[in-house]
Amino acid sequence: MREALRYRLCGFCVEREGEAGSRFDEVPGAGCSICGGALDRVPALASMAARVVRRYQFKTFSVGVSLPDGVQEKEDEIRAALKLKGKETIKTQAARMLAERLSSRLHKRVDRTNPDLSALVAMAEGRVSVWTKPLFFYGRYSKPAGVSQRRELCPDCLGRGCEKCGASGFVGRPSVESQLRRKLKEYSGTDRITFTWVGSEDPDSRVLPPGRPFVAELKCPLKRAIPGGFGTRFRGGTITVRRGRLLPSRPMRTPTFRFRTRILCETKSPIEDERIKEVKRQLRDKLVRFDRPHGRPTFKTVYSAAAHKKRNGLLVEAVLDGGLPVKRFVSGDLVSPSVSEVLKAEVRCRGFDIREVQETGEFTFAQVSRL
Ligand SMILES: [Zn+2]
Ligand SMILES: [Zn+2]
Repeated sequence: MREALRYRLCGFCVEREGEAGSRFDEVPGAGCSICGGALDRVPALASMAARVVRRYQFKTFSVGVSLPDGVQEKEDEIRAALKLKGKETIKTQAARMLAERLSSRLHKRVDRTNPDLSALVAMAEGRVSVWTKPLFFYGRYSKPAGVSQRRELCPDCLGRGCEKCGASGFVGRPSVESQLRRKLKEYSGTDRITFTWVGSEDPDSRVLPPGRPFVAELKCPLKRAIPGGFGTRFRGGTITVRRGRLLPSRPMRTPTFRFRTRILCETKSPIEDERIKEVKRQLRDKLVRFDRPHGRPTFKTVYSAAAHKKRNGLLVEAVLDGGLPVKRFVSGDLVSPSVSEVLKAEVRCRGFDIREVQETGEFTFAQVSRL
């Protein structure tokens, strides 16, 4: 008769293999042939994990584990030798035990497919790493003249970080981006933020309410609530965010838009009143061609335009498709027809304000796939 192989396992491991009593000797954890007592440490690991994840705001979570070296192999070996399937793997069991403890302790729900927070517990090292689902914050900013949209790279180190820029890699001058970054960090606790802008304007352009849309992706936030409106004051004015909300996921494509702008123009010589009226007549629902400097020609719509004399210049109000550059629309450089072309004169843009940005399309999102 063949000597039956008897393994010494702890209570947790016996229970998992599903063969209680018959083929195993139940021993205290330290003597367990599979886990060596690792599963006894679950309550302590759960307390530690609870302390770590408490720093984060979340409703749902999931837990994964990395087992001590060799544990999985021992389970596989014993299952192969005894032709056992077991109820679940030791990895699943450890993660489940941790999740149950955390859930009752923190009063949070486990969600394995799309959790707000995932924790990975390294069982041997007693280390917890945490990842939280990114936030996609949509808002609209308005700004005064003299502030650029994006932060600018430090000219000395080109972004690497040096003494002059305080190792940030960017110039200290306020920009919409740097100001929003500061506020969003304050609300979310993360500085891993990337912006997607729905169009852009000149640093010298004012953007008036309700403002220009943007989306900020906030990676691994500590907090998940961002106010729908806020302002940031600095020397030079205030940047205000309105209509803020969280998007369901990362947008695949930002919407198309049109915008109303007021443009201050200068002309070399005075233009007759009759000519000026032509702007309104000729640039209504007009398709204009834009020969992009680095791309194929594109066509944009001028929905309306009107010009008025203003001191020794012209004031043009226009509603344009997003992506049509205002300065070129005035000068006619690579754009046709243009204000210059209609006025049969050399007209230059001295500055423009963004008065209204209207989204004409919708955000598109990837299908969220569920397991
Ligand atoms: Zn065990
Ligand atoms: Zn620098």
